[in-house]
Amino acid sequence: MKVYSYLDLNNEQGKITTHELIINQDRFFLDFGSDSLTPNMVKDIKYIFISHEHLDHFKSLFHLAEFLKEDIEIFMTNTTKKMIELSFQKMFNESISLRNYEKKAKVLERIRLLYFNQQHEIYHDNDNYLQLTVYPSGHTFGSSMLLIESNEVNLLYTGDMDYNKAVNDRSCYFDFDKDVDYIIIDGTNILNNRKLDKVLSIAKDYAERNHIDLLIKPEKAVDIATILSKSKHLNEHKIIYKKDLYPYLEVLLESGYELFTNDKIMLELTSNMPRFDKTVNLTTRPSQGYAKKFNYTLHISLESMHHFCSSFIKSPKVLIGHYDRERFDEVMRIASDYGYHILVEGDNLL
Ligand SMILES: [Zn+2]
Ligand SMILES: [Zn+2]
Repeated sequence: MKVYSYLDLNNEQGKITTHELIINQDRFFLDFGSDSLTPNMVKDIKYIFISHEHLDHFKSLFHLAEFLKEDIEIFMTNTTKKMIELSFQKMFNESISLRNYEKKAKVLERIRLLYFNQQHEIYHDNDNYLQLTVYPSGHTFGSSMLLIESNEVNLLYTGDMDYNKAVNDRSCYFDFDKDVDYIIIDGTNILNNRKLDKVLSIAKDYAERNHIDLLIKPEKAVDIATILSKSKHLNEHKIIYKKDLYPYLEVLLESGYELFTNDKIMLELTSNMPRFDKTVNLTTRPSQGYAKKFNYTLHISLESMHHFCSSFIKSPKVLIGHYDRERFDEVMRIASDYGYHILVEGDNLL
């Protein structure tokens, strides 16, 4: 068994975000965000799985859309599909001509939906079979990990993941009874163990102020709204999703996610909403005055990674991707302490 891994060079050192397997002679891509892919490299791909809507995992679907095979099959969850449609629209607005867009948008017709915890049979002829099952990976709403079961290999690809058990519907789940030979897991946070806790310490800081805009990525807005709304330090505050978050929240609402867990969390529907004495405004757009940039990681910690990987009945071989290449030696050392393997750019013989 071989995995070919591709770099995404978007950030300085690059990250391994995209992998290729050959299953029954067909090229099967796990995510498609690498910017080192070229038109020539993608024209005979049979299957692509997209784990979630972040650019480092799907952007080549947009950039190389017209070079993909007409009958390619692209798998993802329904929420991820809707998010990607939004991004296609946004990328189009920023870059290309309408004619070109129509060509590119055709690739969206090749998307096949996968539903959480349901096994999807792709084919089964004689001895050859391929079955796909997605499980929530906890990273963003709709983000999924993929279990591939085939006559050649059983492999779990987590994409980006967060071992999130408590925060609203964005929780991670896997069926550990499954027979898994290999796991390709998210190594982003292997050196840090950063947690969400700092959110609450920041809440205290806001309690002193009347209004503050919190500059935040959309996938984190719902978590932050939920957590801040429960903080006793913010008893008098309303937590408001600003209008720029609307397209994102609309997708989540359609997908059945709970976004307004109590009357403290509101959506800014019009510009003449009633005034509140104290607000925490969540926005993706920098604004003048009290905007404060807020970031935290949604990736699995080393401790949780270990817990996750040792929960399987049969110990799978653990392969780490998406790690910080600048600190390769440290990543390598920690991985080998746990008996994990590191995926590098190019061929990885398993
Ligand atoms: Zn991500
Ligand atoms: Zn990523």
